[in-house]
Amino acid sequence: MFTCKEYRKVETLEEAWQLNQKKSNLLIGGMLWVKMGHRNVRTVIDLSGLGLNEIEETEQEFRIGCMTTLRQLEQHEGLNRYTNGAIRESVCHIVGVQFRNGATVGGSVFGRFGFSDILTMLLAMDSYVELYKGGCIPLNEFVNRSRDRDVLVRVIIRKTPATFAYQSARNTRTDFPTLAAAVSCYNDTWHISVGARPGRAMLLTVKEPALLHERNPETIKPEERFAKYLSEYAAEHISVGTNLRGSAAYRRQLIKVLVKRACLEADRNQIRKQNS
Ligand SMILES: Cc1cc2nc3c(=O)[nH]c(=O)nc-3n(C[C@H](O)[C@H](O)[C@H](O)COP(=O)(O)OP(=O)(O)OC[C@H]3O[C@@H](n4cnc5c(N)ncnc54)[C@H](O)[C@@H]3O)c2cc1C
Repeated sequence: MFTCKEYRKVETLEEAWQLNQKKSNLLIGGMLWVKMGHRNVRTVIDLSGLGLNEIEETEQEFRIGCMTTLRQLEQHEGLNRYTNGAIRESVCHIVGVQFRNGATVGGSVFGRFGFSDILTMLLAMDSYVELYKGGCIPLNEFVNRSRDRDVLVRVIIRKTPATFAYQSARNTRTDFPTLAAAVSCYNDTWHISVGARPGRAMLLTVKEPALLHERNPETIKPEERFAKYLSEYAAEHISVGTNLRGSAAYRRQLIKVLVKRACLEADRNQIRKQNS
């Protein structure tokens, strides 16, 4: 059971940070994950009074407050237009609408859960985290850092011209993913993010021309060529493991299938964008 002695709705980020330095206290987002565990906490720290529950869109970027819910991401027109609906696809299989109305972006990203769909998606984007003390750092750097007691204030996504697609495989509806894959192409580079390996999402970047020179594409239809190569390349270079949802061998096969599908979808999205 999860218990706490005191609840504090903070008025400033400094207050939240100060309280969060005590190991007996706990900062919460939607509290949906932490309440599943057994823990006796002295003070829970609630950021919901700081106006960080919105997605601001500017010409250059999306600024997503840490208390923004997964449902807000799912329904945000600008984000879905920019990602060809991949953001919606990455969150819509998570439990149910009621749950997604509570789970936050801050809790999902700071938690760095191996099974995280949203972390997998965000890693394939030109994305950054804004930390109260640590400043703004690329998400890919943050994912591989060890946990500290900073406060995640916002996730920032730059609107770099790109194409996206997201795929996941679940043994049963609403379960954690057995494998998740997000693919994007920007700055002439393919970004392949694979999550639920079952470890934390991992990002592989491939300069398209280099990859195409590596193998002989003669036998495959031109539109499938790059997708097949990328998926095989990802299966070779992204490490996977075994847990109760699937074996490493099964996950390696899933990488080939999901990354190939995502690459083809991203390519179609790019053509659609160019023609519209
Ligand atoms: C039953 C269940 C099924 C799920 N299935 C999936 C799934 O299929 N796919 C998927 O991607 N996710 C899944 N999740 C995870 C979910 O989507 C959220 O990522 C998770 O609940 C964390 O969000 P939260 O707002 O509840 O965070 P909380 O539980 O409140 O916090 C999580 C952690 O983050 C810390 N934290 C929260 N906010 C901040 C902040 N601003 N700064 C610093 N630290 C912070 C907390 O201290 C805590 O350690 C599932 C969760 C549950 C409980």
